[in-house]
Amino acid sequence: SVTVSENEVAGQVTAPSNSFEQVFSLAGKLALITGGGSGIGFDIARCMVQAGATVVITGRREQPLQDAVGLLGQQAHYQVNDVTERSLLDGLVADIERQYGPIDVLVNNAGINMKKPALEVTDEDFDRIVHTNLNSVFSLTRACAGPMIERGSGSIIMISSMAAYYGIDRVAAYAASKAGVEGMVKVLASEFSGKGVRVNAIAPGFIETAMSKTAMGGDPDRFARAMRRTPMGKFGKPEDIGWAAVFLASEAAAYVTGVSLPVDGGNSIGF
Ligand code: NDP
Repeated sequence: SVTVSENEVAGQVTAPSNSFEQVFSLAGKLALITGGGSGIGFDIARCMVQAGATVVITGRREQPLQDAVGLLGQQAHYQVNDVTERSLLDGLVADIERQYGPIDVLVNNAGINMKKPALEVTDEDFDRIVHTNLNSVFSLTRACAGPMIERGSGSIIMISSMAAYYGIDRVAAYAASKAGVEGMVKVLASEFSGKGVRVNAIAPGFIETAMSKTAMGGDPDRFARAMRRTPMGKFGKPEDIGWAAVFLASEAAAYVTGVSLPVDGGNSIGF
């Protein structure tokens, strides 16, 4: 049987319990963003700091690119970490929680790509990409999800790719890794759904970063082909992904779990 609230019976509307600012605010939240020292990860960090969060960004290099921490200010911390060192990830999470407090939001952003015709992809190439983009994502997610479940709250966001859905030439390993992430999102969202932890993905289209510039290889024909496949006819900006991540991390997305949100200028419309 379906229960209907008294207000609905009376035809009344209920006022929202929080203001717009409160609902989208990340004030008091701690977010861990892998690969946050450049590209999309940096803008996710920047948008989350603007929304009030404290962020810990990670990367392999000793110093993040573009002096990320300096640009982000006092609400940002940088931690050197290679996500492929999977045995270190439980320790990373424990260290961060000891230093800065509980991790409320995990953004699995670090990723690598490589464009080669499938017949030229070696087993080592394939393993390296899947290891970074999929296996490590699982290990870090497991490390963060345990404490989140104990506390009864958390938001986990995977940066996937439209390559998970469409046959984009020369990215066999990358597409396989991102499709794996998409499958994992649904399972984890289901397992954690009664425990206060939401799990979602963002599937970016063509976003202007070092990765996409390398992928285009400065080739105008390749760029034109990509834009023909993009209804909005332009690259997205890293902050387009950043604001989507703020939404998924915030209370505004309290009833959103197990989805993959395309942020792709319309690629997913299909035509
Ligand atoms: P970039 O190459 O510009 O940045 C990748 C970031 O990940 C860097 O900060 C790098 O830092 C970090 N990183 C790479 N490997 C590791 C590792 N093993 N451990 C820790 N950090 C690592 O890529 P984008 O910003 O373009 O991509 C970010 C995410 O968005 C990726 O998951 C990518 O697949 C996805 N994406 C990007 C699209 C695009 O068009 N740009 C489209 C669709 C998805 P460092 O070198 O210091 O380790």
